Amino acid sequence: MTICPDCDAPMEWISPGSPYLCPMCYRSYPTNETITYLAPSHTLDTTASFPSDSFEQLLLTEERHFWFKSRGDILEKLLEAYIKTGSKFLEIGCGNGYMLARLSHIGASLHGADLFLDALKFCRSRLPSIPLFMLDINKLPFKEEFDSIGIFDVLEHIEDDIGSLSQIHRALKPGGYLLVTVPAYPFLWGPPDTAAFHKRRYTRNQLSSRLRSAGFKVDRLTFFNSFLFPLLVVSRIWQKKNIYSSQKSLELQISPFLNKILGKIMSAEKAILRWANFPVGGSLLAICHRD
Ligand SMILES: [Zn+2]
Repeated sequence: MTICPDCDAPMEWISPGSPYLCPMCYRSYPTNETITYLAPSHTLDTTASFPSDSFEQLLLTEERHFWFKSRGDILEKLLEAYIKTGSKFLEIGCGNGYMLARLSHIGASLHGADLFLDALKFCRSRLPSIPLFMLDINKLPFKEEFDSIGIFDVLEHIEDDIGSLSQIHRALKPGGYLLVTVPAYPFLWGPPDTAAFHKRRYTRNQLSSRLRSAGFKVDRLTFFNSFLFPLLVVSRIWQKKNIYSSQKSLELQISPFLNKILGKIMSAEKAILRWANFPVGGSLLAICHRD
């Protein structure tokens, strides 16, 4: 069910591409280039903390940089088991739609959501026909609507992460799955985290307890990005000592040869993650469900 993010009243969607109208508070939710606005009024008044050119930059980086491709390889393999053909899947923080496009072969009914309209416009060019929503993860306009929801490297941007997880819990159908990735280990905090507007990196226990606080049952919690973990640690220590410049582009600029090698190493994790968990890594992955 879609609910009004301002007053929680159920709303009916008249036809695809048409705006929503709340029957209770009479707020109308417009569409823009087939993207539906479903953010609460106060969110639309605040300025988002992403420079407007960063999505175009990210789009180019996603196509080239090994980290995005390898994370995509790993997630695609794992998600195939949880996103069923014909089921309703929502990615919150879908950005330019890189992950959604990789999941399109599953045959699920894919939905994308993001706070940033600029990102959703790139997503629309990649995926011309799926429903896309501009919304605020702190006030999700859905109740028992989706069979599974994915948030990949989103939670670390949110001040009230438990509040957002509770909203996701409500948006899932009973028995529905939430799939989460976050950056791991607070000690790895560095300039790339600051540049990406992260609020925190997570310990394994922190992520687990926040998921449980929001009402989820945790089925699986594993590190990934593990084979390259030693390199990541060394790179972050050097950054802290200012041996390298502190710009976030540091970890995004890489020679094509190294990019290929590192990509192959990281992607190899997908075979192991099918059967086993990693005890350390640069990222955490949780699979959990709503009772
Ligand atoms: Zn309303």
